[in-house]
Amino acid sequence: MAKQLPEEEPPSVMMALAPVSTSITVINVATPIATHQAPISKVQSLDKRRSAKFRVSKSVRQFLSQFYPEASVADWNDWRWQNRNRVRTLEELERIITLSADERAAIERHQGALPVGITPYYASLIDSQNTSQGLRRTVIPVLDEYETTAGENDDPLGEDSHSPVPGLVHRYPDRVLLLVTNFCSVYCRYCTRARMVGSAGERSVKKSDIEASFDYIREHKEIRDVLISGGDPLSLDDEKLEYVLSTLRAIPHVEFIRIGSKQPIVQPMRITPALTRMLKRFHPLWMSLHFTHPDELTPEVIDACGRLADAGIPLGSQTVLLKGVNDNVETMTKLMHGLLKARVKPYYLYQCDPISGSAHFRTPVSKGVEIIRAMRGFTTGYAIPTFVVDAPNGGGKIPISPDYVVGYENEELLLKSYDGDTYRYPDGGLRLGSYSGEPS
Ligand code: SF4
Repeated sequence: MAKQLPEEEPPSVMMALAPVSTSITVINVATPIATHQAPISKVQSLDKRRSAKFRVSKSVRQFLSQFYPEASVADWNDWRWQNRNRVRTLEELERIITLSADERAAIERHQGALPVGITPYYASLIDSQNTSQGLRRTVIPVLDEYETTAGENDDPLGEDSHSPVPGLVHRYPDRVLLLVTNFCSVYCRYCTRARMVGSAGERSVKKSDIEASFDYIREHKEIRDVLISGGDPLSLDDEKLEYVLSTLRAIPHVEFIRIGSKQPIVQPMRITPALTRMLKRFHPLWMSLHFTHPDELTPEVIDACGRLADAGIPLGSQTVLLKGVNDNVETMTKLMHGLLKARVKPYYLYQCDPISGSAHFRTPVSKGVEIIRAMRGFTTGYAIPTFVVDAPNGGGKIPISPDYVVGYENEELLLKSYDGDTYRYPDGGLRLGSYSGEPS
């Protein structure tokens, strides 16, 4: 019998949709986007016709006909179909992937939050035979997840202790993190919010919590920036997301809204014309996309990023440094170059947070510095993310950079260039290192 893994239900994804013809899929949706608001039912059917034209790679087509022979290309390009058909049980996984004994035992042992959840689209990118493939390691559990090592805990960033209202984290003076759902269509095994994502029951985000968060933001006039996260906010249907965005936009002191999401990467068909048409009404709206590996930069994902960028949304990437997945210069450079081509600015490279059971993913901090040093100067500056450690217990992001300062000789600052030569800069003012840390 299939072992059903518990989680919060996807928000409003069970909407019945009539089948659409299996048209040959071609390049990106180029139809101009109307600015007026059509009735919901018309928007959805129009949206479905357009999403049927999203590009589908040859390898994905083969996967579709092999594992979902009853589904059409239009089904595949319907994000609700992707949610309804997520791979969640041992039986579903074993239909697609040859599991190792370790992976199988880890899945059988799982209880509670951070269940297995993989969209059929993302499953099509997984190497069915190679247990060390980067993408596979990020979404298929192994027994190491159950080993908690020194310094790890379930809430390493101290989010719960900086939460004045359930679902709202107020850690920095002028900005807050608003958690609008616990649902993700794919669950990453190293998730910082592993304690809560995919959980049912008391950890689920309630409407009353979101309303209380809105009240808190209204009352705190120092909050000028709201990061909407979760779970994955783009897993909400358009109407719910629009409600969140319009409520925030109606608060006069909220200047800047950001959405953090992996949805364009694990479910690129979620980026529909109706969604981008709605999002562009709430500018300035920025988006941080959670990329992990260059294998994620498929034609479908590049198209999805293009649709967001065409809607005027500045895109940044957030990548977690993961042992055996992306912890080498070649992979990281390939990812960052690919992101620039996809119109996404590499933003942060995170040291993996010490969540319980994450030791098998964590590298030494020096590995991140080594990668940044090997990229800085050797490639485009725009391709270099800021490497940060998110300090345990709510200390915030602390940037860590390679040190290019050699020291002083008289009034000259000695600097090492990216390729190892030493240069002198006339610097007669306050010396580096003598700065007190207090604003002057
Ligand atoms: S998409 Fe983000 S919130 Fe969801 S499981 Fe992955 S890291 Fe966690």
